[in-house]
This record gives sequence, C-alpha cells and structure tokens, in this order.
Amino acid sequence: MLGTIFDIKEFSVHDGPGVRTTVFLKGCPLRCKWCHNPEGLSPYPQLMVKENQCTHCGRCYNPCAHDICKKYGRCLFACPLGLISLTGKEMDSADVAAKVLRGKDFLRMSGGGVTISGGEPLMQYEFTLDLLRRTSELHRAIQTSGFAKSEVFSEVISNTDYIMMDLKLADSGMHKKYTGVDNAVILENAKILKASGKRHVFRVPLIPDITDTEENLRAISEIAGESEVELLPYNIMAGAKYKSVGLTYPLEGHKTENNKIDLSIFKRGKLL
Ligand code: SF4
Ligand code: SF4
Repeated sequence: MLGTIFDIKEFSVHDGPGVRTTVFLKGCPLRCKWCHNPEGLSPYPQLMVKENQCTHCGRCYNPCAHDICKKYGRCLFACPLGLISLTGKEMDSADVAAKVLRGKDFLRMSGGGVTISGGEPLMQYEFTLDLLRRTSELHRAIQTSGFAKSEVFSEVISNTDYIMMDLKLADSGMHKKYTGVDNAVILENAKILKASGKRHVFRVPLIPDITDTEENLRAISEIAGESEVELLPYNIMAGAKYKSVGLTYPLEGHKTENNKIDLSIFKRGKLL
C-alpha cells in the first residue's frame, strides 16, 4: 500500500520508550498556529527551499529538461548550493516496514520500537494500519492529534502498543481559533483512549498565553483524569522552516516565555 512520507528518523529518543525509528507521514487536517513541522501539513510532496541562504542567482528558474521539475516551476537540480529539495515521497508500506525491521534487534534491545508520527498519521490511516500490522514484531507507538473518526481511531489504537495523543485546548472555540478545527471528536477519542486499557500519554504543548493558562490546564487535567500527562515547553525554533515551504509562521513575534506552570493541577503530570 502506498503512503506519502516526509521523513524516516532512526535512533530517535523522544518519540516513545527506548530508541525508536520514527516514520513521519505527510498531511494534517489541523493548522495549529505553533506547528513546528510545516512540511508535514500538506498531504502532497512539495518544494523546500532554504531561502535564508539563497543568493538569488536565478539558476533554478531557468527552463530545464527534467520531467519532475515541471510541476514545481523551478529546477530541483540547478542550485550550486544545494538549497532545493522535495519534501514528501510516495513509498510502499512493505518497503517502509522492511527498512524499519532492519534495525529490529537494536530497537528491541533498547526497549524501543517503531513510532508513526506526522503530520497526522490518522489522515493516512489505511497506510498507518498496514504499517502497524507489518511491524507487529516490534513495540509500536503512534503520535496523534486524535482528530479522526472514532471508528478509525479505535481500530488504529487496537493495533498499537503505546499512544501519545495531544490535548491542546479544552475550550472548543479556542481550539477552533488556534488549530482550525473543533475539538469534539478529539475529546470523544480521548475518552475512548482512556477506556481502552492501552498504555498512553496525553501531551500538552505549552504555548504562551494560549494553551499554558491556568484555566486551560485545569480543564485538560479534568479531561485526562488518571492518565499520564506530559507538558511540552514552547519550541522557540518552531517558525524556522515555514519560509522554506512558502508559508509564514503564524506566531511570529508572539511571546516565547511560558507562564509558570503549577504541576499540582495534574494527577500524573510532568514537564518535559
Ligand atoms: S539556484 Fe539556489 S541560490 Fe540560485 S536562486 Fe535558486 S535557490 Fe537561490
Ligand atoms: S496536529 Fe501536529 S502536525 Fe498537525 S498542525 Fe497541529 S502541531 Fe502540526
């Protein structure tokens, strides 16, 4: 089965227990204003240009004979500084699984495994399911926003050993304002996850004055209940890649220091 992937990262130590190989699937239905993977938003392969190093020599705009360059309007091979690349590539799940499984002895020895991330892996859920099934001899984790039909969410988590799910904003209006989508289905899936018996963690990105308010964190603590919660400090580098995929970072100039977090709000919360 074919899927569109924008990265396969080996030796990852931040995507679940142990050392992991993380597969990043392209495409996300959300538009979180703080997203630090803008190259994962579009479901399609796209041009990436390191604009900050560009000397504007114009060579990549000259007509070229490569078929692949036609739809991008620039030559992918002309830049003497190597500033142009494509992000996103169609790959067969059998090939991705074979690549992951090549390192299975080491991954197992470290207590790690494979993690499917994105973008939003549930946007390509059939591919995600197929990849999870093909890698069932490993510990399998998923990082998800939880934004998917509940039938899809349930099927995917039943084929996963560890689920890392975002909880960003408890208020539906705020959620829509800052991520572009309503959170009703996410809250429903959070309930399903809690009742599933699967090992899981809710992850809260701490965005200054948006998600890190006491009101929001108290409400998220209620939703999480007894589940483990990880609080992720604001990534001040989040805006770095936007220009290279032709986008503007929505939080440019936004406050970068987090408010003081009262961890006692959470039953099982930790600041990463
Ligand atoms: S060839 Fe490279 S340096 Fe020249 S304009 Fe294109 S991206 Fe910029
Ligand atoms: S859900 Fe994740 S990948 Fe999607 S926009 Fe939000 S931060 Fe980015």
